[in-house]
Amino acid sequence: MIAAKGYGALSKDSHIAPLEFNRRAIEPSDVLIDIMYCGICHSDIHTARGEWGPAIYPVVPGHEIVGKVIQVGSAVTRFKVGDIAGVGVFVDSCRTCSPCKKGLEQYCEGGMVPTYNGYYKDKVTPTYGGYSNCYVIDEQYTLRIPQQHNLAGVAPLLCAGITTYSPLKYAGVGKGHKVAVLGLGGLGHMAVKFAASFGAEVTMLSTSPSKEADAKRLGAHHFALSTDPAQMKALKGQFDFILNTVAAAHDINQFLDLLTLEGKMILVGIPPEHSAYSAAKLISKRRTIMGSMIGGIAETQEMLDYCAAHDIFSDIELISVHDINQAYERVIKSDVKYRFVIDMTTL
Ligand code: NAP
Ligand code: ZN
Ligand code: ZN
Repeated sequence: MIAAKGYGALSKDSHIAPLEFNRRAIEPSDVLIDIMYCGICHSDIHTARGEWGPAIYPVVPGHEIVGKVIQVGSAVTRFKVGDIAGVGVFVDSCRTCSPCKKGLEQYCEGGMVPTYNGYYKDKVTPTYGGYSNCYVIDEQYTLRIPQQHNLAGVAPLLCAGITTYSPLKYAGVGKGHKVAVLGLGGLGHMAVKFAASFGAEVTMLSTSPSKEADAKRLGAHHFALSTDPAQMKALKGQFDFILNTVAAAHDINQFLDLLTLEGKMILVGIPPEHSAYSAAKLISKRRTIMGSMIGGIAETQEMLDYCAAHDIFSDIELISVHDINQAYERVIKSDVKYRFVIDMTTL
């Protein structure tokens, strides 16, 4: 066992507070990472507060982890002590099912092992996330970090980055496409950067008028206020794709109207509430609603390499561990620019 410390929630109603806990011992194929930075994803809040159903308490959230390798197991070949490494949303999977063999470990038929709020394959040892000093992980599920600077701005790529990169790639988004990004938060700001970088014409659909200038600075060509019926009406039938990153209950039907014939709405936001959609709005224009979950290990590495080659980072506010609860409240109020990242040296 490795004695670890971190911040987490003891129940769905508790604040995020200091905790001590044990991590599993290092196996031959594991690396031990000294965590430098960890992003705050809205999924951390949904999970810690039990919004998606009962969690496994204590929950130590955090799945956007960058740190330094400080120990390697005897069989490790891809990492050495001193390397910068990343951990994303999952840390293991069955490795034998069809999705795993295709590099789609996030859709593992046996269920991926989540970075926190889950169990390792022994089904008894809990996983604890990155609001912590260290992480033990199999090297096959560890990411290489090609960037040498701004590592705090790299951490959110491990979830917000891959979650938006993967569906845009899968959909073949590029030059000639009109793409709308719904919700300018952690995922949304990365979606704008990637869609623009892939050559699409990007429109930001936001409930926050104050975010217009930032949306354009991040790469959006247009900005529309989703709360203004006149602006929404003017965009009817415009978009080949809408990437929906909204984390709270909202009416998706008003946005289906904005899709072209055969346009696709890609859901990545996971509001705790179920959404109702109008069959007529889909059928009348052969439109699709699809979902997408993070990305596999190989694709996450591809995304990190793409970001390094194109100088793409997350725009972050670096905070101390003592400010996590305040950061949660700001995320919930959509007051995030555009990802909070915890400086783990403050632990
Ligand atoms: P976030 O930073 O809170 O961003 C969400 C944005 O949605 C807000 O900033 C806001 O943008 C908009 N929004 C919030 N409430 C709204 C409402 N009631 N109506 C319309 N728009 C609203 O959250 P995030 O970290 O990007 O995560 C977004 C969602 O994706 C969460 O549900 C999270 O759990 C989920 N997620 C999914 C995956 C996956 O694999 N699919 C991975 C990571 C996260 P504006 O101010 O611009 O309106
Ligand atoms: Zn996440
Ligand atoms: Zn599998």
